[in-house]
Amino acid sequence: MPRPLIAITDIAAMQSNLSVAKAAMPGARVWAVVKADGYGHGLAWAMEGFAEADGLSLVELDRAIRLRELGWTKPLLMTEGMFSVADIADMQAHALQPVIHTQEQIAMLASAPAGSALDVHLKINTGMNRLGFEPARVREVHAALKALPVVRSIALMTHFANAENTSATLSAAVQTERFRACTEGLQGAVSLSNSAALLLQGQIRCDWVRPGIMLYGASPGVGTAASFGLHPAMTLKAELISVQELHPGDSVGYGSAFTADKTMRIGTVCCGYADGYPRHAPTGTPVLVDGVRTRTLGRVSMDMLCVDLDPVPSARVGSSVILWGEGLAIDEVAAAADTISYELMCAITPRVRREVRREARREVHRPLAAN
Ligand SMILES: *Cc1c(COP(=O)(O)O)cnc(C)c1O
Repeated sequence: MPRPLIAITDIAAMQSNLSVAKAAMPGARVWAVVKADGYGHGLAWAMEGFAEADGLSLVELDRAIRLRELGWTKPLLMTEGMFSVADIADMQAHALQPVIHTQEQIAMLASAPAGSALDVHLKINTGMNRLGFEPARVREVHAALKALPVVRSIALMTHFANAENTSATLSAAVQTERFRACTEGLQGAVSLSNSAALLLQGQIRCDWVRPGIMLYGASPGVGTAASFGLHPAMTLKAELISVQELHPGDSVGYGSAFTADKTMRIGTVCCGYADGYPRHAPTGTPVLVDGVRTRTLGRVSMDMLCVDLDPVPSARVGSSVILWGEGLAIDEVAAAADTISYELMCAITPRVRREVRREARREVHRPLAAN
């Protein structure tokens, strides 16, 4: 029997989360972001879950070509654009839409061999300072792109640094105003909002939105996913493979990082950092055993972690364990481990078995718990 550790991708949750994104800005078109194999959920399953999106957005050329092979015929946005002139032929052959964010990419387009024309996206750096042209150059760059025979259309985009934090100095409002000022009068569809802007900055309007994390059922950074009506698209599930009894003074695992002060039962779960569970999750990180909320104990090791069975007296070897997903928000685990849901989703390693669930959502019992 394979090790009982499995990551389940829930197609119905993805479909439902996409409808939340669509409802958040009626009339806007949606690029569903599927980089990193759909935030770790599996590329083909992400394509299936987001079949009703207007386009998919990613950064990996091989994955974009794979999406075409899988039958995706709608637009594909490549948010880092091309990395070499050779990529242009692939983009032409597969009708991929590159973001253009450097002078070097404009030069690549200028030297591209003849082929079908591309729809490109002019990326403007409104303060993120990661990719894009400075606002003062936008008109010149727009004109240069427009003059290239290989360019069919030019869309306009920027990316927010702090959409979840309205009091940030570099707020989404500040970036939006910079964007507006430097693009005034230019033709082209406008694409601005990530999940946080879409859910939290209702005043920002644009032609296309680019939600990622919310589609996978995690919080955009403020508020719980459930409070936005989002459902977890990934459940990481394991079993207890051992039960031990501790007596006062006994410790658990490497470094003896947890010591019992009373007699207690603990369980050992077949999931560790080599599976993608965060090693930095401290004692107290939430976990469900047989649907009951309890906590991790001691250090996470490569293949295992230990949990407190005090709240679950009936637990035994074979009991089901949910590390995150249905009934336990991934955001809670991420917060305990001092990281973000994105990183946990993307970190699941290949040795974890994968399964897909397609049934419509049934209401699950959510244990009463702290937020
Ligand atoms: C990853 C990414 C997104 C999606 O962001 P979320 O926070 O996951 O919604 C949107 N736009 C760009 C350019 C990105 O790189």
